[in-house]
Formats: sequence, structure tokens, C-alpha cells
Amino acid sequence: MLCYIGIGSNLGDREKYIESAIKKLKSIKGIEVKRASSIYETDPVGGPRQGKYLNGALELETELEPRELLAKLQAIENELGRKRLVKNAARTIDLDILLYGDKEIDEPGLKIPHSRMRDREFVMKPLKEIYAGI
Ligand code: ADP
Ligand code: MG
Repeated sequence: MLCYIGIGSNLGDREKYIESAIKKLKSIKGIEVKRASSIYETDPVGGPRQGKYLNGALELETELEPRELLAKLQAIENELGRKRLVKNAARTIDLDILLYGDKEIDEPGLKIPHSRMRDREFVMKPLKEIYAGI
């Protein structure tokens, strides 16, 4: 399945976190990273006062089911020191599933297409670079 992932960081060495996350993704069996967008610096939206983000998008080919993919993304977030203390707080790394083929999922803890992505310039700008269908 072809799917699209949003990647973001606004804490610590942001470039390094994004690079490490991509490297970890590439090392996972059942995931192939096919394309990466440019990385943009963006202003934070919502949440407590925090620094600017670096945001990008990735195209993956995966054999993993959506839930399995989410679990892998969350494992990478945890490995890279992601803390979940306050909603919309600064984070070392955020990996979100934006699109999973043309599948629509609306379950507790997993919504695809990602909710509010269309309103978020910081998601759509990199995504449009690698995905023409939007
Ligand atoms: P943010 O909304 O800032 O990305 P988190 O990364 O902490 O916040 O994610 C909060 C929750 O969002 C996760 O526990 C996850 O279950 C849920 N979630 C729902 N849909 C998705 C999706 N498409 N991709 C990633 N996480 C999702
Ligand atoms: Mg997230």
C-alpha cells in the first residue's frame, strides 16, 4: 500500500531527529521509504508557547496494516525521546499517518485521512510536493 506520513520536530536538534526517524523507518521490514519532500520551517499552531517546527512528508510503500504502521511510528517516536505530557506541546519527533492508500478509517486512536490535515499548511505544503492527488 502506498501511504503518506507527516514528520515534524521542534525540540532539540530538529534536523537530526528527522534524519534519525527516516533512517529508522528505512530499517523496518515491510516499510520502504520511496520519496521525501523538502523540509520546511513553520510556526507552531496551538498548544503552549514553543519553538518553530521543521515539517516534511514522506511517501512509503508498506505491507503493514494501518494499526501496525501506527505502532511502528509510535515506537520510533518513543525511541527518539518523545514525551506526551501536554497536548500539542513541543516534541522531538511527531510521525502521523496522513493517507493510507484511499482507505478511510475512523476509530478511537486512528483517523485516516489525518484529521485537520487539509487545514494545515505545514502538512499540505510538503505533502503536495510528493503527492499529486490532492
Ligand atoms: P498530534 O495530534 O499532535 O500528532 P500525538 O502525536 O501525541 O498528537 O498523537 C495523539 C494520538 O493521535 C495518538 O495516540 C494516535 O493514536 C492518534 N491518531 C489518530 N489518528 C492518527 C493518525 N492518522 N496518525 C497518527 N496518530 C493518530
Ligand atoms: Mg502525532
